[in-house]
Amino acid sequence: MTALQQLHTHLAEISDLNRISSIIGWDQQTYMPPGGSAARAEQSATLQKISHEMFSADETGRWLDAAAKEINGHDPDSDEARLISITRRDYEKARKVPAALVAEIARVTGQAIGIWTEARAASDWKPFSPYLGRIVELERRWAEAVGYTDRVYDALLDKYEPEMKTAQVQAVFDAIKPGLIELVKAIAAKGQAVSDEVLHREYDEQKQWNFGLEVIKRYGFDFTRGRQDRSVHPFTTSFSINDVRITTRFDQNFLSPALFGTLHETGHALYEQGFSQTLERTPLADGASLGMHESQSRMWENLVGRSLPFWKFFFPALIQFFPEQLADQTAESFYRAANKVSPSFIRVEADEVTYGLHIMLRFEMENDLLEGRVKPDDVPEAWNAKMRDFLGITPPTIKDGALQDVHWASGLIGYFPTYQLGNLISLQLWDKLNSAIPDLASQIERGEFAALLDWLRLNVHQHGRKFTSNELLHRITGEGLNPAPYFKYLKAKYSGIYGL
Ligand code: ZN
Repeated sequence: MTALQQLHTHLAEISDLNRISSIIGWDQQTYMPPGGSAARAEQSATLQKISHEMFSADETGRWLDAAAKEINGHDPDSDEARLISITRRDYEKARKVPAALVAEIARVTGQAIGIWTEARAASDWKPFSPYLGRIVELERRWAEAVGYTDRVYDALLDKYEPEMKTAQVQAVFDAIKPGLIELVKAIAAKGQAVSDEVLHREYDEQKQWNFGLEVIKRYGFDFTRGRQDRSVHPFTTSFSINDVRITTRFDQNFLSPALFGTLHETGHALYEQGFSQTLERTPLADGASLGMHESQSRMWENLVGRSLPFWKFFFPALIQFFPEQLADQTAESFYRAANKVSPSFIRVEADEVTYGLHIMLRFEMENDLLEGRVKPDDVPEAWNAKMRDFLGITPPTIKDGALQDVHWASGLIGYFPTYQLGNLISLQLWDKLNSAIPDLASQIERGEFAALLDWLRLNVHQHGRKFTSNELLHRITGEGLNPAPYFKYLKAKYSGIYGL
């Protein structure tokens, strides 16, 4: 066997273990009875420990070195060359972090999630504050272990958005913040122009499920290589390029969570189903970054699913499912309802315009915590001050403020920006798509999505993790991250809806 073959076999076995971890994680959130949770935690920890030991072993490094020599002279963009360079980057990082630190982070976040759940229910910051302090300290140690050149945040951001720097994120966020705040104010001044009352009528769950499936079949979700189930928090996971799972949740009195949630997760799933089959059982069978992943979910949820052409096609189908509820509606009025903008406290419920400001708040707060400008005890006050600056509202309780998201309790510091990067990237790609497919809007109006999906497959999906998000953007658009298309889109769309 050549070293490259040995490396492939080794990485394939590690991939198998990681995919099995995903299966038991998916089961935990969909079908497992509550009594199974203690045993499941042990099973999950065991698998992750074995996978980590196999990956960070000396032999991985030896095979990487030998395989690199074997393929010397190959095209640096070939699957083999990329497999080696990206695996080497992961390997060196994995070797830098002491096992004791990894275990300590797992232990503290394991406790912190329970504490956060209770603190959130009681809307009381005090019990959670020391845990946040501990997690910030551990994440800072993690960053010191892997190293960074400029900001401590660089090392954490890199986990989710490889090779992206804090300064780049800061620059694009700073560039759009004043314009976004101004746009939110202009829309708020026209507050009564749009009502979303229609979304809050009574909608049978089974019919919601059936309508969602009708849409995602048309989108191109391959049900021979995937399925949908229910969970409390919707997510996408995959056990293979040929087995991609999405979940959704229902609210009998609110149409949006299931409908737009399903479209969102389908965007993630189409990406996962679209990786080249040659990447199966390798570390490259993954998204380029969380931001690139989110660009796909946001595109199918918002740029497609909240557009007027989409509703011109799908409203007649929706009204067949719900003739009484929608008797007084048209495609146009439903489109407006689905795009109501209003400053709100909860990020996951935020509309397209205010969403970015929720993310910028967390990005600034995380940097303030890591660099010592804000102490954990002072987070709720600092949070509320930013909410007033950005959105003009003050959360009535801490549950509606600093305790709303589980990310910090889970140790996910540096993760939030990827949501907004996804929004920005989705519009950069959308601009390119519309030049490549000039009648895209009329295709959507006819319920045709094949050309759109083919373009994404060719330009984004097939590459998996072979290129960084920045490399992909350069290949496709000729430039790096650029917030201009995003801002132009929001202004045009919402000027139309709100008559600004
Ligand atoms: Zn997502």
